[in-house]
Amino acid sequence: MFIADCHCDTLSELYKQNKSLYANDLMLDAERIIKNGGGLQFMAMFIPTDVFRAGAGATYTLKLIDTYLRGLRELEQKGLHVTRILSREDLKKLPNGEFNTLLAIEEGGALDGSLEVLRVYYELGVRCMTLVWSNRNDIADGVNEECSKSGLTMFGRQVVAEMNRLGIAVDVSHISTYGFWDVLEHSTKPIIATHSCAYSLCDHPRNLRDDQLKALVKTGGFVGINFAGQFLEKDYNDACIESVYRHLAYMMDVMGNDDQLGFGSDFDGISHPPYNLQGVQDFVPLFDYLGKKFSDETIEKLAYKNCIAYLEKVL
Ligand SMILES: [Zn+2]
Repeated sequence: MFIADCHCDTLSELYKQNKSLYANDLMLDAERIIKNGGGLQFMAMFIPTDVFRAGAGATYTLKLIDTYLRGLRELEQKGLHVTRILSREDLKKLPNGEFNTLLAIEEGGALDGSLEVLRVYYELGVRCMTLVWSNRNDIADGVNEECSKSGLTMFGRQVVAEMNRLGIAVDVSHISTYGFWDVLEHSTKPIIATHSCAYSLCDHPRNLRDDQLKALVKTGGFVGINFAGQFLEKDYNDACIESVYRHLAYMMDVMGNDDQLGFGSDFDGISHPPYNLQGVQDFVPLFDYLGKKFSDETIEKLAYKNCIAYLEKVL
């Protein structure tokens, strides 16, 4: 089954461990995705808080872009066809049995406070950006800073407007609730939560409340379910494939449709994945399970159609 996955941190691990994008012992690689039937993989570049606070956000991001481009070159040298999703036109090539990628930033600290840098990232292929990670940056506060009760900064509003203009998806995963509502007010394009689950089922601050889910639906937005055990179950040891199903079913119910949900596995960014969802190869048993619970039509939507429909609205 072709699967769109809106978040993984594999690039950071490839960079730190100097490993192969084609085949590795991490949670995700191109070989396993192709074996699954192909996929659209968002490749996120995470910038640690201490790095951008030292003014090195852009340099670090360029190193990760280098890792990404070298990874793609490696695949091409193996004779694989790799589509980079850069425009609505590229979406028409999906689904296929190949490894397709969309380059993303996880942490607006990557900009080092510059809209010019944002525009260069767009030219380099970035099409989705998580405005802020869990701490504070000069765009907004993350979930660790909820006490500040603050929304977007003036710079943050400019960043959102420029992302809307360029065609970069605005990702609200990790942002504080005040920031979330402010983004909803200021973004003119549908927003995405690339890797979050339902707060009502598991009250982790990274998860989305029911009113957030309902408001996001109205924007025409999209949510990718995260596979982190702590986001799925109170005790992460209880997390399993069935937990993912429960969050999907609950969120569909709150959102009132099955058109705006999908996956944001967070592979290579999570320390406690469900015991039976240890890597990208386990999308196979996950879909075996979901196939018993949902119609074929819903399964196709969750797997990739909803994500593509969302991207058609923002790219
Ligand atoms: Zn994250």
